[in-house]
Amino acid sequence: METSDTAAAAGRTIVVLLGAPGAGKGTQANHLAGALGLCKLSTGDLLREAVRRGTDLGRTAEARMREGGLVEDEIMLALVREELRGGRCARGAVLDGFPRTVRQAEGFERLLQETGERVERVIFIDVDESEIVRRLSSRRICESCGLIAAGDGVAPDAGACATCGGTLVQRPDDRPETVRRRLEVFRAQTAPLLSWYREKGVLREVPGSGEVSDVHARVLSEAS
Ligand code: AMP
Repeated sequence: METSDTAAAAGRTIVVLLGAPGAGKGTQANHLAGALGLCKLSTGDLLREAVRRGTDLGRTAEARMREGGLVEDEIMLALVREELRGGRCARGAVLDGFPRTVRQAEGFERLLQETGERVERVIFIDVDESEIVRRLSSRRICESCGLIAAGDGVAPDAGACATCGGTLVQRPDDRPETVRRRLEVFRAQTAPLLSWYREKGVLREVPGSGEVSDVHARVLSEAS
């Protein structure tokens, strides 16, 4: 381990947000990272950016993402390792969308051990499946800055992004047939993480229904 890694690791806070697609992880990760002064590390955002820029990673990930499947664990671990090394996450990170499989969680644990760190808190944002399907079908994101429109209290047909004026679009994987597949993938591959982290004593569960600000208050009180 390099000295700079040790310095960067000192006192870092690592929080993981877990939840089905559409549970509000991205929105809550923004708010929580802001409140705690940590970086938001969203693997979905990183992959979408890679697809947009046409990088090797983007080309590898694109088809999997479009069909609602998962990108390989090793690729995701390398991506997260790289991000955590950057100065942007020097105080710690709120992870949104990672880990998504038990193998990723095991790899992440090993990766953090290299710098004497561990996941301090895992917060499961619990939302009914019927609500999830409703939310995802109306969700729009800004194709320029990634702002999540529906769910942030902005009408999905608002037209332009409130932050940068970019065009609001539906994510290709928010179409109904892909949403069904993503929910199956969540149940089969990600839900087992709940008992994995519960056994480690770091899991907290919060209801994800209601206003964004109410959910934020619940998440914040469990994270601190
Ligand atoms: P998200 O924005 O978190 O819903 O992620 C969108 C898509 O990116 C997912 O449906 C996966 O195809 C891919 N993805 C994001 N994070 C991961 C991860 N940790 N492991 C595997 N695939 C991922």
